[in-house]
Amino acid sequence: MARIVMKFGGTSVADLDRIRNVATRVQREVAAGHEVAVVVSAMAGTTNQLVAWCQGLSPMFDAREYDTVVATGEQVTAGLLAIALQNLGLEARSWMGWQIAVDTDGQHGKARINDIEGEELITRMQAGQIPVVAGFQGIGPDNRITTLGRGGSDTSAVALAAALKADRCDIYTDVDGVYTTDPRIVAKARKLDKITYEEMLELASVGAKVLQTRSVELAMKEKVRVQVLSSFVEAPGTLVVDEDEIVEQEIVAGIAYSRDEAKVTVRRVPDKPGIAAAIFVPLAEAGINVDMIVQNVSADGTTDMTFTVGKTDLVQALASLDGVKNAIGYAEISTDKDVAKISVVGVGMRSHAGVAGTMFKTLAEKGINILVISTSEIKVSVLIAAEYTELAVRALHTAYGLDA
Ligand code: ASP
Ligand code: MG
Repeated sequence: MARIVMKFGGTSVADLDRIRNVATRVQREVAAGHEVAVVVSAMAGTTNQLVAWCQGLSPMFDAREYDTVVATGEQVTAGLLAIALQNLGLEARSWMGWQIAVDTDGQHGKARINDIEGEELITRMQAGQIPVVAGFQGIGPDNRITTLGRGGSDTSAVALAAALKADRCDIYTDVDGVYTTDPRIVAKARKLDKITYEEMLELASVGAKVLQTRSVELAMKEKVRVQVLSSFVEAPGTLVVDEDEIVEQEIVAGIAYSRDEAKVTVRRVPDKPGIAAAIFVPLAEAGINVDMIVQNVSADGTTDMTFTVGKTDLVQALASLDGVKNAIGYAEISTDKDVAKISVVGVGMRSHAGVAGTMFKTLAEKGINILVISTSEIKVSVLIAAEYTELAVRALHTAYGLDA
């Protein structure tokens, strides 16, 4: 017998038939003798509608009232699922964030969970009651409803699993697991049985958007075993677990790509102490995330500085650079939005040499030019022209022996 948190995303509760299907899934786990708590998202499309309503009245809306509005989507599905479970003869009740309580900080619209009171739910689960918890929401220090940011019900589920000391947190979604790469562009992509938290985090941060990044961070910190699986097919999904739970570790777990970044080159900046700080500190202060950075060697006392920022931050980044132009002194700035970042991720890189070499050789054989390179302990990323994205991902998938 295990204690399981089951989380269902928006497409899994999109209409009454699907809610009935979810209830059947929950019933099955209960019948198998498990203690179950459920976390639900809003019905697919609902949160978008609620956000649009707020924006329709005022683009400068009060974030506390925004939270009051957008948190309602999850209230509806929690109540409906409790009814569906009761129809199956199960004892179930809905819980809003404030009733549990899910205590968050006061950053309305993107609050973080501080603490979840789990004792009452545990007692009730032991007595056979199924808590159906509204994801995405909590209560702030001002005693008002907060929400956790888009996609936040994944984080609700993981946090609840930690608070309830659950054996597993099953995240039911519309894909059946985590793949070695995007199956839409590589037909030979394979579903992974297991992946480490760190790999999942790296893949999530470079474009594989299966789980909210924050939920993976939390799972890693609290050591919550997470399973990603589909509510539409009957098959085990992918387990996201600690490294030592994976016996036969592949060197490379997966390959991700992102077309969300733009390349910026600042040409002919003076090559002297303080220049990088003069460029990047103002960017950071403007809340702009810089990802890859290269500085060229200098011959004539000046150097070129190339880096990437999110495409949506590009205009702001250029404004920031313009603001420091007199202080730094540079010749010109060029930008390129037609780029893609390709990342190879795997904890096996820590103990195996040659992963980066294989990547560069594979791309060279396809005649693909590398614009920028960056590495971390378990990741190698390159920036290339966007038109070669598919070609690069497919070639690398084969090169690392990941093809099904
Ligand atoms: N319903 C919220 C959203 O769409 C939370 C979630 O689904 O995770 O962002
Ligand atoms: Mg989601």
